[in-house]
This record gives sequence, structure tokens and C-alpha cells, in this order.
Amino acid sequence: DPHVAKFVYDFTEGNRDLKDLLGGKGANLAEMTNLGLPVPPGFTITTEACKVYLDSGEEPAALRDEVSAHLDALEQKMGKKLGQADNPLLVSVRSGAKFSMPGMMDTVLNIGLSDASVVGLAQQAGDERFAWDSYRRLIQMFGKTVLGVDGELFEEALDDAKTAKKVTVDTDLDAADLKKLVKQFKKIVKSEAGRDFPQDPREQMDLAIRSVFESWNTDRAKLYRRQERIPGDLGTAVNICSMVFGNLGPDSGTGVAFTRDPASGHQGVYGDYLQNAQGEDVVAGIRNTVPLAELEQIDKKSYDQLMQIMETLETHYKDLCDIEFTIESGQLWMLQTRVGKRTAGAAFRIATQLVDQGLIDEAEALQRVNGAQLAQLMFPRFDDQAKTELLGRGIAASPGAAVGKAVFDSYTAVKWSRSGEKVILIRRETNPDDLDGMIAAEGILTSRGGKTSHAAVVARGMGKTCVCGAEELEVDTKRRRMTVNGTVIEEGDVVSIDGSTGKVYVGEVPVVPSPVVEYFEGRMHAGADDADELVAAVHRVMAYADRVRRLRVRANADNAEDALRARRFGAQGIGLCRTEHMFLGERREMVEKLILADTDDERENALGALLPLQKKDFIELFEAMDGLPVTVRLLDPPLHEFLPDITELSVRVALAEARKDHNENDLRLLQAVHKLHEQNPMLGLRGVRLGLVIPGLFAMQVRAIAEAAAERKNAKGDPRPEIMIPLVGTVQELEIVREEADRVIAEVQAATGTDLRLTIGTMIELPRAALTAGQIAEAAQFFSFGTNDLTQTVWGFSRDDVEASFFTAYLEKGIFGVSPFETIDKDGVGSLVRSAVEAGRATRPDLKLGVCGEHGGDPESVHFFHEVGLDYVSCSPFRIPVARLEAGRAAA
Ligand code: PEP
Ligand code: MG
Repeated sequence: DPHVAKFVYDFTEGNRDLKDLLGGKGANLAEMTNLGLPVPPGFTITTEACKVYLDSGEEPAALRDEVSAHLDALEQKMGKKLGQADNPLLVSVRSGAKFSMPGMMDTVLNIGLSDASVVGLAQQAGDERFAWDSYRRLIQMFGKTVLGVDGELFEEALDDAKTAKKVTVDTDLDAADLKKLVKQFKKIVKSEAGRDFPQDPREQMDLAIRSVFESWNTDRAKLYRRQERIPGDLGTAVNICSMVFGNLGPDSGTGVAFTRDPASGHQGVYGDYLQNAQGEDVVAGIRNTVPLAELEQIDKKSYDQLMQIMETLETHYKDLCDIEFTIESGQLWMLQTRVGKRTAGAAFRIATQLVDQGLIDEAEALQRVNGAQLAQLMFPRFDDQAKTELLGRGIAASPGAAVGKAVFDSYTAVKWSRSGEKVILIRRETNPDDLDGMIAAEGILTSRGGKTSHAAVVARGMGKTCVCGAEELEVDTKRRRMTVNGTVIEEGDVVSIDGSTGKVYVGEVPVVPSPVVEYFEGRMHAGADDADELVAAVHRVMAYADRVRRLRVRANADNAEDALRARRFGAQGIGLCRTEHMFLGERREMVEKLILADTDDERENALGALLPLQKKDFIELFEAMDGLPVTVRLLDPPLHEFLPDITELSVRVALAEARKDHNENDLRLLQAVHKLHEQNPMLGLRGVRLGLVIPGLFAMQVRAIAEAAAERKNAKGDPRPEIMIPLVGTVQELEIVREEADRVIAEVQAATGTDLRLTIGTMIELPRAALTAGQIAEAAQFFSFGTNDLTQTVWGFSRDDVEASFFTAYLEKGIFGVSPFETIDKDGVGSLVRSAVEAGRATRPDLKLGVCGEHGGDPESVHFFHEVGLDYVSCSPFRIPVARLEAGRAAA
């Protein structure tokens, strides 16, 4: 009956497109099963079942029977029963959400072992030590994750057992030691959890399933999701998989592998292998692994088979895959695969490599990279000319150049970073409890674990610099210091870590710009060495994006220098020149004079002094952007921004009075400041309102623009200015300003004998402007959405204050996943943009439409602006490459 919900899927029933339902791990296990690869049989409980549990606190009624039916089938296939005393079937119970959340949720291995079946397992495997080792692992994992016992207690007991025997590694403990340890572990469970370790295998399995469901909502999982912007309501699937054993002796083992190097994209043999070990040992960085290539010597047959499978997977997924595998007594088993995480640089290289191999086309290549990765590649790196003191070397796990004070625990990392310190978190190895410390730190340094250790995987995911497995570091977290070949680094000492080379330095190493920025600046071209390979890949992907994108990309720039940089970065014009930036510094005094002017004469004098300066600014700007449009916005900010601070000025005047030192100008200023003081300046006298109440101000600016354009024309240039009026709320405002502007332009054209073809448009940054966009378009030749002010006024959020005051609480409560000032609020602000676009175009079909708020450079928002049909986005010069790329991705 198709109407009855199905909560359990056998691995043979699923496929890779069912990630929503089966989670990433379950979907890919099914895909591999159906590809005929050696996957241990099993089944997956859906995310829907998890959602029911999380909503109601109970498993769905049908789940138990469905699990029983699938367990029966699994037992028949395997020829043994779960926990059967003489020949037990053992299973792993693994979490697996739609999006990978490494180490964040629960997994329990060896379910089915008990006092009775451990004996059967020993007989069946002919290895008593192995059986008891598996049993102690079960009690430990189950105790910690399912019953909530402090994991340290088990670790301590294990350490004590090793010390008592005077050995250092757990493989030196024999069956008798492990039997004793099991007894002790059971005692720990009893006293800490207040119940016995369950002997009924089905009870073990059901409790483990429930605990996986619940692990969706642990604090660390929630924190990770917020960081990675993973929705909180997806739930996790649960995979029940028959156990295979990597700890059966030297011809067994477990490992992880990549089909390409996740740091460079190069093809080759990349991964780590750990002999005679089980499950999470590799990822947890507990013991040191050997490079995967050494498996060829250890077990050639399995190695060859693994290489074959990796090729199958790459061709099938058409992408870099990462893999977890286990070898049980010479038999290879695939435990997991997924499209692998990679560094930002590798993403670009792999995308172009796959195009060259004919596996994907350019449009698909664009989907394999994103703007956040490009932004990351534009970070600076260490100056290789600088004098440095090398402290040690580890594995380059996640690129970047990080400098900060050494801290040895997460708590201090968070505390110090809150007080504005930059810190490097140094640990022997990290575990999921270190997550907030990792977020707070500039970079992460560990002394143990490989490229697939927790620290490496999580740091790569966060785009944070990480060096791991720097073995010469002796990290002493208790004494908050580390020793490296005799050098002692105490908490608070500055260190520098290079996530691209794995090098660790004493002190602060100076940082230089990234090769990708050098390339955009035109100072570097694609060649042969490693950095050039990256640049070549970026160059090609940018070309793919530029070929397909419909959105044009302009810059927010106020001076020739920024304009020229923007042009080098690919800007197709200026979308916003904020003229207020031209009135700062020494020109502030002239604006003061304008504000203080009592008579027409005084005012005209002040404007007359400003005109030539403005004109010169524009000439430079039009020259820098010759042949491309330049949108000049007339003065926008409230006037008090040009006047002295009210408190400071009051104090100055009061002190002068006390000294009987009368300063007429200061007194007039103070009067003006009082008069212009507003409770809500952002809602006060600013934007078009200034143009309407200060006679001659906008006319002066329009004249400067027109005369500058005329001069450029006469110099055989190609100036394309567009005049933009800010903060319009009604078409009447715009009409009045336009009449005056048209008159000034006509005068300049007549006087200079030029045909300037200036266009006049407006910003749409007030709700009323958006709501009456159809009327406003009568008087505007273009709209530019000012989504900063529009967000401020639609939400009623002060753009200057709220992010520091209550947004953290809003983010924590999940009211939004990201600040609406950063990513456009599609439902609210976005819907106003959408309807204003429609209304504006209905009035004036050739209306030009753009956006110049901060959102113009935000990846997700760029996709939205593409979708609603804008002509261009405008953003700060450094974000232009990101906007170009995302505009291409949106169109591809
Ligand atoms: C805006 O409001 O979105 C805008 C671009 O103008 P400003 O940020 O200068 O207010
Ligand atoms: Mg604005």
C-alpha cells in the first residue's frame, strides 16, 4: 500500500538520489551496493522516522515491526542471528544526515555482543583477544553515547590497565587483560548510569537507534548546523550495517582514502591506513596511521581491488570521492563513500581537471565551486621572503595563513577571542567538544592525526587554517605549553601556522596577498608551478562564468583608485558612487560653511567653492571607467555627519565661555548642531530631502557631473554618467529634483556644445518607493535597489546597531539563519524587490534595474537577483570576482 509510510529501506532498495530520506551515508551505501561493490549488507531507517521521534518523543508506531522484518531478512542473508550465543551477527548503528556532520552525531559499533555471545564470537573467529576487545569497545561506546557515561572514565580505566602492564598501546593488552577491563567497564556503567549494560541484543539496538535520533539535537550538532547553515529540521537517518572487523589481526585493518588529493586535486594514492584497528580509530587520530600507498606492501590483493573501486566510484560520481573501508582477514569491504570535501583551491582545480577528462561540462564545473571558496582563495598568505623561525612541521590540512597567541584548550580560545585576541588553538588532537574553540581560533594546530583526523576535516569544512599531525610537538595541555625540540611555547606566545605547507613558526610571520588576488590585479599569469596551477584553474572557471552569466557586475566605488581596481577585477561599471565620501577630510569645512550659510550669498559662495572640487573628482572617475556606466548618487547622509560631535562641541564651547574666550564660529556651529540634531537621523533629513530643502546643493552636484562629462567628451573620452537620487519615497520628490537637474544639464550642454545623454534614476530603498514603483518609474530611467536601507526600513532594524545588540540571540533562536543585512530576506524584502521590478517594467519596459546594497556581493543574494531579473549587481571591488562567479553559477 503506497499510502503507508515506509520507514526502513534495505541497502538494495535505495540510491544516491534519496539523500533527503536516507541521509548521505545511507543513500551512498545503497548506491555502492547497487554498483556491485562489496558493501556489508544492512538497512537504513529514514529521516522521516527521526522527525516523528523528535516531534513526538516516540518512535513511529510502525517502526518496530519494520525493523524486525528487515532484521529477519538480514539474519537470513548472513546465516546468523543478532547476538546469537554461538555465532553472533553483530551490527553497527550509524547516524547519517543529508549533509555530512563529521563526528557530530552518534555511532555505536559491535551491537549484539553480550556476556554470552562474546564467547561465541571468540570461538567463531578463533581469537579470544579480538572478541573481548570488541566487547570492551561496545560497552565503552554504548556507555558513553547511549547511556551518557563520561567517556573519560573508560579512557582512564584503559590507561590504568596499560600502565599496570607497563605497555603503551592497547594492542599489547591480551584477552585476560581485556576480560578484566570489561568487568570494570560494566561496573562503571552500573554506577554511573544506574543500570546494567543491557544483555539483550535487540534492546541494545533499539536504544542505540533512539540515541542516534536524539544526537541530532545535541548542543554541538546544533552549533555545527548553525555554522554550516544546515537546516535544523532535517533529522538524521540511521544505518544498521552488519559488522566487518578490522581488528582481527595483522591481515585486517581499516582506512580512509580519497580518489584525488583533497588539498591539490592531483590524482594519485591519497589516504591513511591503520592495521589491526576498527572503526573510528583512523578518523579519531588515536594511533598513527601509515600512508595508503603502503597497503600495497601489506596486502596487494586488497590494495589492487581498492584502486579499481576508487576508479569505478570516480567515474560513476564524476567527482572526488572519499571512502572508508575495512579489510577483514584479507577481504575488502566498503563502509562509506561520498563526494569528498576539499579545499577551495582543489575545488577549482578538480572542476577543470574533470572538464579536461570529459567527465563534466563547463556548466557542471560551475556547480562544483562557489563564491565562498573563491573568497577564501583571496585571503592573504605568508610572505616567503620574510625571515622566519621554523618551529616544526605538520600536515597541511586546511590552507591559509594564521597568526595568533597559543592557547591549549577551547575554553581559553573562546574567552580570549571574545576579548579581541587572535588565538591559535593547539591540541594533541581535537574532538567534537573542541568545536567552539575551533570556531573562535584563527587556526588549529595538532600534534596527532592525519589529513582525515577530526581537526582536519572540521577545519576544512569551516575554511579555517589547520596544521595537524605535527609529531615533534609535545603538547602539554595541563601545563598550558608545548615543547618542540627544546623550544618551549607557553600559553600566550605568538605562533604562525601555514595550512598550505604545514609549517609552524615562532612569532608573527608577515602576510602577503594571495596569488589569486595577484592574478585578478593583473600581476600574475598562469604558468607551471603550484600557485600558477591554481591561478590557471580560477582563470578558466571565471571564463566559464563570464560566458553564461546574464547579470552584469558593477562596483561600489567612490574614487579613481577603487574604480581602477574594480575594473581589473572585472567590473562593468560603477553601480554606486557615494558622493558623501568626497566631502570628508579638509572639505568638511566647506560643507560646514554651506550648512551655516544664512544668506543666499554665503550659500552660493560655499557651493561655488565645492563645485570645482566635485568636478575634478568626477573627471577622474569617468576617466577610470571610460566607456562604462558610472552611477553617481547625489548627497545622501544626514547633515550632522559633517558637523562636529554635539558633546565634544558643547564641552569646547563651555570651556571657552569659562575662559571668557568667545568664539563666534563655534557658537554658530553649536546652534546648527542643535538645530540639526535628530532622534532618528536615518529617518530624518537625508537623501532627496536634502536636495529639496537646501537650495542649490543638488544643482551644484548635477552641474559638476555634467561639466565633468562634457570635459571628458571634449577630450575624446567616453563618459557614461547616470545620476541617482537617494531615499525617494514618492514620485513627486523625484519630479521636482529632475526638473532642476534637466535644466542644469541643458545649460551645460548649451554652454559646452555637447550632447551628454545623461540618465536620471533613483534608488528604491524605502518600502513606499517599492510599493509605488509603477508611479516612480514614470520619472526614473533606472532603479537601483538600496537593500541596506530597504532591509532597515522593512524590518524596522537599525542597520548600525542591531547586529551587535540582539542578532546573536535571534540567530541562536533560529529566527533567521543569517543576518538579513548579509543575505537578502527573500520572503520580505525580496518580495518587495520582486514586485517593484514588475511594476517598474510595466510602466517603462526599458527601465534599467540593479542593486547596490551590500547584498550585491553576497552569493545567495546574487542568485536571487538573477532570478527576479535585475540587469546588474553592484558590490565592493573585492567582491566582484565572487559576484561574477555566482552570477555565472546562477545562469548555468
Ligand atoms: C543602501 O541603502 O542599500 C545603499 C546602497 O545606500 P547606503 O548604504 O549608502 O545607504
Ligand atoms: Mg541607502
